[in-house]
Amino acid sequence: MSEQSDIAINQVLHFTLSSRDVRGRIVRIDEALNAIISVHNYPPLIESLLTETLLLTAIIGSTLKNEDGQMTIQAQSRNGAISLLVCDYSKGGIRGYVQFDQERFDKRNDDSLETVFADGYLAITIDRAQQGRYQGIVPLDRVSMTDCIEHYFEQSEQLPTKIIIGVKGDRRKIAGALLVQHLPDGEDGKERLHVRLDHPEWEHVKILSQSMSGDELCDANIPLEELAWRLFHEEEVRIEKGAVISKGCRCNETHIRDVIAKFPDSERQEMANDEGQIVVDCKFCSKDFLISLAPMEN
Ligand SMILES: [Zn+2]
Repeated sequence: MSEQSDIAINQVLHFTLSSRDVRGRIVRIDEALNAIISVHNYPPLIESLLTETLLLTAIIGSTLKNEDGQMTIQAQSRNGAISLLVCDYSKGGIRGYVQFDQERFDKRNDDSLETVFADGYLAITIDRAQQGRYQGIVPLDRVSMTDCIEHYFEQSEQLPTKIIIGVKGDRRKIAGALLVQHLPDGEDGKERLHVRLDHPEWEHVKILSQSMSGDELCDANIPLEELAWRLFHEEEVRIEKGAVISKGCRCNETHIRDVIAKFPDSERQEMANDEGQIVVDCKFCSKDFLISLAPMEN
């Protein structure tokens, strides 16, 4: 252990097992998660899919190098009850929402991903100021979002990955996740060598990781570094503090006013309702902004 961290909640713990060419993340969230799901009031199944995806967003977002850019997880389907589930991460801020068809949802045959996202796919997009945009896509054909994300890393990034998650609570939730990834050349950010078929080091770490329980991940009395230590006590573990996780949305009235002000007056008139207000909604926050036309006419 190289650094005391004492992180227990709402902050990511980074760790590295350099002798095994493995990097890891552990996170446990409550405030941001509850702030997001409480404004939506989705049916329990949809809420639990959003919860799982928000947790995955927090932990995968935290692998962005130098906390640069934005990462978006988007699950879409044309024929399922859920047409869109989207979550994103930027500098520790997470947010998300779901669009679904109530009638299709009520008539669904079962709760499987393949049913609620019939013929659906999962896209992960990374936007970086310097390197531009990168997107990878996998079908939503696994048992869980977590499995689909592991599949994504294997297929799109050739990056063997194991993720363990835990979610507890009904109205007030707490959720935790562990992610371990095998970096064939040992270092973050370097060009990856072609992936070998056998990974004895990786197999060992993967098996150790599977002993982490969802209960431990959700237990706010256990500091995250202790979880890392429990798993890898025979290894040399390097630990660092990562991003603080919060509910992050860029919507605010000033920004929306500025955007609307850029439209020509005639278009603004068309956008306005009978009361002379333009209604702009933020789907992430499930919130309407009422922007009055009057002050802009000056
Ligand atoms: Zn918002």
